[in-house]
Amino acid sequence: MSRHATQVGIVGAGPAGLLLGHLLHLNGIDSVIVENRSREYVIDRVRAGVLEQGTVDLMQAMGVDAGLQRSGLRHDGLYISFNGRRHRIDLAGLTGGKAITVYGQNEVVRDLIDARVGTGRPLYFDAKDVSVGDLDSTTPSVRFHHDGTDHDLRCDFIAACDGFHGICRPSIPDGVLTIYERLYQFGWLGILAEAPPSSDELVYTLHERGFALFSMRSPTVTRLYLQVPPDEPIEHWSDEAIWNEMLRRMTTRDGWTPNIGRIIQKSVTPMRSFVAAPMRHGRLFLAGDAAHIVPPTGAKGLNLAASDVLVLGRALKAFYERGRADWLDEYSDVCLRRVWKAQRFSWWMTSTLHRSPDETAFDHQRQIADLDYLTSSHAAMTSLAEQYVGLPMEVSFESVGL
Ligand SMILES: Cc1cc2nc3c(=O)[nH]c(=O)nc-3n(C[C@H](O)[C@H](O)[C@H](O)COP(=O)(O)OP(=O)(O)OC[C@H]3O[C@@H](n4cnc5c(N)ncnc54)[C@H](O)[C@@H]3O)c2cc1C
Repeated sequence: MSRHATQVGIVGAGPAGLLLGHLLHLNGIDSVIVENRSREYVIDRVRAGVLEQGTVDLMQAMGVDAGLQRSGLRHDGLYISFNGRRHRIDLAGLTGGKAITVYGQNEVVRDLIDARVGTGRPLYFDAKDVSVGDLDSTTPSVRFHHDGTDHDLRCDFIAACDGFHGICRPSIPDGVLTIYERLYQFGWLGILAEAPPSSDELVYTLHERGFALFSMRSPTVTRLYLQVPPDEPIEHWSDEAIWNEMLRRMTTRDGWTPNIGRIIQKSVTPMRSFVAAPMRHGRLFLAGDAAHIVPPTGAKGLNLAASDVLVLGRALKAFYERGRADWLDEYSDVCLRRVWKAQRFSWWMTSTLHRSPDETAFDHQRQIADLDYLTSSHAAMTSLAEQYVGLPMEVSFESVGL
């Protein structure tokens, strides 16, 4: 048994855990990151791709933006398509110059792992049997098995950054958390294709046959999604069937259509809205997907992970530098205010742009009217734009020493 100690034990090396580890490092706070998957698996997992302005600014302020500056694709607008017509929403024009940046989560995670390795601070991949304990004490523990050795890591605090299926949230005693959850009657079939994007900006489509989303990862790779039933077996979809359906839903009357190319990855993801509150128990703090999940339509998941980390970073810095515990106490409330606004936005984007199996003809006409209003009202477009590029962070960069 190897016994060691750190200030903050971080479970999970996804965006939340890695960002927190680096933010703490910049403030001279010790951490150990424990991840149960391999480095390759964590990097190769295909997931988010849309970074809010605030996430980009945070990565820049933390000095982990070299790849983002090199390969990130800044988008000043997006399209909403319905009734065969695309309508552009000028995100930058409506928000005083803010934008989103398309940069794959794979790249974000790769850059953050490189930054972590560069600091020389511990990051264990392939940890087995990870568990957390003594959460009510002042020395909670992270226990795990790594490379033939059992580890007992004593911490001042534990950051639960282990995602929706992690072990930290279930380690909180029954009755502490209130769970708010909504499941949707559809999922997304997503593909990566070797095809140059035929639009410089994302295209969200509501079609008679359901939702479709055109996006991209690079100047040569297109990322496309289709609404399908949540339990749809991917084996039911040949590449040809996927392209037929993509083109059918996305092609607009002016002839715009995605470029076709070799499909290099395909999968089906169910959708849910989920919040566990409070985001703290004793000395364990939940951050990112461990505490909340949004349907991906609003592109908020990774961005919420980043804003949680900023709030937690401020609280830990104040605790270690000035003995302040009040920001630790406020952590959950401050995060949840932003989380709920993102939940509301993601739910609204999802319900406005998808066809529900139990909807009525009235519901569908209301959706069309919603989109018609959205794309013709300056006020409605401004509301969408300010939420899509990201509502202001609740915590300043100065408060985390940036
Ligand atoms: C298909 C899809 C598309 C998406 N698109 C977008 C988008 O466009 N924009 C956006 O902002 N978000 C998007 N998201 C959401 C985004 O990917 C997540 O919100 C983000 O990954 C959350 O980061 P996290 O670090 O909290 O959790 P995760 O990325 O899930 O990281 C958790 C880490 O903990 C590890 N872990 C789990 N269990 C244990 C354990 N027992 N011990 C140790 N480690 C453990 C996991 O292996 C993982 O590495 C999308 C998600 C999906 C699935």
